[in-house]
Amino acid sequence: MTEPNALAPTAADLETLSRQLGRPVRDVVEIGARCVCGNPLVATTAPRLANGIPFPTTYYLTHPVITAAVSRLEAAGTMAEMTARLEQDEALAARYREAHEAYLRARAEVGTRSGIGAVPEIDGVSAGGMPGRVKCLHVLVGHSLAAGPGVNPLGDEALAAIVEWWTPDRCQCHGAWDTTGVAPVRDLSRHVKTQGLSPEELDRKRAERRTGEGKA
Ligand SMILES: [Zn+2]
Repeated sequence: MTEPNALAPTAADLETLSRQLGRPVRDVVEIGARCVCGNPLVATTAPRLANGIPFPTTYYLTHPVITAAVSRLEAAGTMAEMTARLEQDEALAARYREAHEAYLRARAEVGTRSGIGAVPEIDGVSAGGMPGRVKCLHVLVGHSLAAGPGVNPLGDEALAAIVEWWTPDRCQCHGAWDTTGVAPVRDLSRHVKTQGLSPEELDRKRAERRTGEGKA
C-alpha cells in the first residue's frame, strides 16, 4: 500500500488542464506547478503511460498565457541562440547537464510516488534537447516551474525573458481559457491517435526512436 501523493491532481485540476489545452489529458499523475491562485501551470505526466509506452517528457506546460509567451521566444530564435551558447560557454553547458540529471532524478521520483516504478527504456533520456541542445523551450520552462529557480539555467532564462507577459507572482488565469460549457472529454483512444502534434510529444517520439535504436 502506498501513501496518497499530495501532488496528485484533483478531478477539478484535470478538468482545468483539459480546458487549458483544449483536449483531454491522460496519464497526468501530479500537478508540477501552480499559479498563485491554485490553477495548474504544469502537468506532470507518468514516465510510463497507461498503454505501456515509456514517456520521457515529464513536465508539460499547460497555462496558455505562459505557453504563448514561450512560443514567442521560440519564434524569435531563442533556441538556436541558446544552443550556440552551450557550445561556447562551458560553465553554462555544465549547469545544463546538471539540469538534465536533475530532470532524470525528478522523473524517477515521480515514478516512485505514482507507483509506476522504474522505466529503464528511458534511462538517460530527458527532454527538450537536454543535455546538449535546446529543442523545446516549453519543456525547459515546465522544468523550471516544477523544480523552482536555480535548477534549469535555460528554463530560468526563458522565464526571465517573458516577464512582460507572465510572472510567477501574479495570476493571469482570468480569460486565459474557456471556462464555459463542457470540458474536452477524456477519450484515451482518440488522444493516442493524435499524439505527436505538440513539440513536447514530437520530442517524446524522437526519444522513443532513440531508445529503440539503443536497444537494437
Ligand atoms: Zn491563476
